[in-house]
Amino acid sequence: MTFLDSFYDEATYLANNPDVAVAVRDGAFPSGLEHFLGFGLAEGRESTRAFFHKGFYRNENPDVKAAIQNGAFQSGWQHYVLHGADEGRAPNNLADRLEEEFYLTTNPDVADAVAAGGFDSAFQHFFHHGFAEGRRGMPEVRHILVMMVDLIDAKASSLYTLEQLDEITFTDSRSVAEIFRRASFGNLIFRGDVVGPFAINSRAEDCVLNDIHEWARLADVQATASGIDLSSYQHRMYVLADQTLIRCVPRGLGSISGERTWIFDANDRRITCQELGHNLGMHHAGVDPNNDGVIDAVYGDMSDFMGGGSVGGMVNGAHVADMKWYNTWPGTRPIFSSGTYDIAAMSIAEPGDRLPIVLKIQGPLRWYYLSYRQRRNFDSHLPSKYTKGVSVHRTGGYRDSDTAWIKTLADGETFQDPVAGVTVTQLNHSAELVTVRVTGFPLKHLRTEWRV
Ligand SMILES: [Zn+2]
Repeated sequence: MTFLDSFYDEATYLANNPDVAVAVRDGAFPSGLEHFLGFGLAEGRESTRAFFHKGFYRNENPDVKAAIQNGAFQSGWQHYVLHGADEGRAPNNLADRLEEEFYLTTNPDVADAVAAGGFDSAFQHFFHHGFAEGRRGMPEVRHILVMMVDLIDAKASSLYTLEQLDEITFTDSRSVAEIFRRASFGNLIFRGDVVGPFAINSRAEDCVLNDIHEWARLADVQATASGIDLSSYQHRMYVLADQTLIRCVPRGLGSISGERTWIFDANDRRITCQELGHNLGMHHAGVDPNNDGVIDAVYGDMSDFMGGGSVGGMVNGAHVADMKWYNTWPGTRPIFSSGTYDIAAMSIAEPGDRLPIVLKIQGPLRWYYLSYRQRRNFDSHLPSKYTKGVSVHRTGGYRDSDTAWIKTLADGETFQDPVAGVTVTQLNHSAELVTVRVTGFPLKHLRTEWRV
């Protein structure tokens, strides 16, 4: 790495400093770099955002903070470039956010670049590029507090023991945590505790759906009173008795991008997976076979536990891609030109594989996602209609954030979007991969505000 690679990026500098961009455009400087070296550095202007965290640097280095205050330096960045880097001062806390082995495994392009000598280490890549590119440096660990909740006339404790809930949620071979670990290719690890039962002085008979919020609040109060720090959990799960005793509720509920889930059938792990999936930001997995933008059945996608998929299954290609649950590259790959492409079977893919498992094509209703599943591993119960070839999913439609399965192709079959002008033809498939031809680029009728 040279000084310039480390501390200067022309595009970032011009974007951060519009006055310099104007000066360069008007010919006052041949490039932003001349301005940076002549003036910008002394002025403390930021020349890259990839890895320097201003607030962190000042907080970690009180001497720098004082030097800025007394005018010896214009900015922490200036100090870092001129002195801090040589002194070995950390410009950010990224070292705490990287597990090298995980990073190299889930980013095979980085592993290749390190092996070829383009980078000294995984850390060097993460530090200068990967973090800014949104790559994950380590698995995301999220904690769930599972609370068993007894109503006066509907007791969860009459249906389950704490040990059973612990096994279902965290420890057995098809636990909810294990399903997410597999569906996320090791990117998401759920841990947590099972507590209770908490007795709520409220009756299930004559309940209304809105009561669930009060039940949750009362359970939180009891958990706190028993010494539990709720703030150390990203998810609070309330396990109550089932619908035969509590008639005002569905089998499960979860707030979208929130922290609460209510489980009224803890034995059906698909329910728990779906509600936690909602907490993570996923919506339902429906179907739209005629691709008219209207989802015909909200839970119709049986290849995804956000739809009607079976216990122990995975999620569809659209969800894997949107959750960033597979190798950053080439795991999910947007395609921009006609050609022939291989897609590895998601059901047997392992982090670090060199083939993509999802291809994305920008269609008029947002994205199309191409993926391939086989009856293997956690997909062993997948209905055969999903395993004959490449599945086409879409996001967007009248329920903006749901995914929609459109069709699964057999060899020789095509999927066409005449509005975008794109055609996908399945050429052949094996147990390991499917090969498709995609034609029609450049696509028509794309909304220009869409970006990769
Ligand atoms: Zn749901």
